[in-house]
Amino acid sequence: MALTEFELIRAYFAHVGADRGDVLLGVGDDCALLRVPEGRELAVTIDTLVEGVHFLPGVNPESLGHKALAVNLSDLAAMGAEPAWVTLALTLPETDSEWLRAFSRGFSSLAERHNVRLVGGDITCGPLAISVQAQGFVGPGRSLRRDGAHVGDRIYVTGTLGDAGLALLAQQGRYDPKGYEEALAARLHTPTPRIEAGRLLTGIAHSAVDISDGLVADLGHICEMSGVGAKIYIEEIPLSPAVQAYREEGGGWDVVLYAGDDYELCFTLPPRKEALLERLREQFKCPVTAIGDIVADSGVHCLEPDGNELSRIPSGYRHF
Ligand code: ADP
Ligand code: MG
Repeated sequence: MALTEFELIRAYFAHVGADRGDVLLGVGDDCALLRVPEGRELAVTIDTLVEGVHFLPGVNPESLGHKALAVNLSDLAAMGAEPAWVTLALTLPETDSEWLRAFSRGFSSLAERHNVRLVGGDITCGPLAISVQAQGFVGPGRSLRRDGAHVGDRIYVTGTLGDAGLALLAQQGRYDPKGYEEALAARLHTPTPRIEAGRLLTGIAHSAVDISDGLVADLGHICEMSGVGAKIYIEEIPLSPAVQAYREEGGGWDVVLYAGDDYELCFTLPPRKEALLERLREQFKCPVTAIGDIVADSGVHCLEPDGNELSRIPSGYRHF
């Protein structure tokens, strides 16, 4: 027999994520009651995943639970915030216990890893869509904003770029990933939010953004909001073995520069902070690589080693 809405909440969403002392009242009442630590600012973000737009029908529900949370934690990471609480609005076409158990498991294991608690939500009936709202803490004035880049800053990225875009090409049957299937699929379906990196960067970086719409598009947001431009030296961009293989076979730069979904951080910092970054390198839990410079000329310019600019209109995925 199908579960009622309340049985379903009790079974799959009442005990998700880490126990936290600052959750005075969690799932079950009209609102959650939460205590924000004295002297810290609250960072709040929300992202929605819609079936057919952000993921294909039939996608693994455990991965989907992970990803729905990961994309929001990635936004907190990009602000330098420490994640604390999340809420979850689920629109479901039906109540499938197997599916819900797997979704909840994927969501909860990532939540536990980052000491995050699910404190409330909503369930409605309709085409499958998942909204997660995440909240975290950051020290006063220490958040990593998009409007803080200065001319002369170095541009860095975490991890490697292009994997999620290449995974999408493979999924669409437009590329044969020969041996890299699993590595690529993991990057697309279970991205790693760069929480530790974001927190270490508070007080070091001038600006940051997470790469959800492609490097050029997201770095473009930093440039627009900071009133600056950027030069990217494309040969410096860190690539995984899978993307290197794709490039060696003649694949273009598009998956690296314009594809979304990598959920790495792109940040800028003044050259005087580079020594400090080096000292902290071990603590980042991922590579950090310099790929360019902030300049006065507006726009994001992708340069080949000979100094020629790659020509292409910057895009990034747009919904409208
Ligand atoms: P209300 O009608 O007062 O908004 P609901 O019946 O929607 O309350 O939800 C009952 C309780 O279950 C609330 O505390 C709500 O936050 C929680 N809840 C509902 N859906 C979810 C969900 N998907 N995940 C976590 N908590 C949920
Ligand atoms: Mg409700």
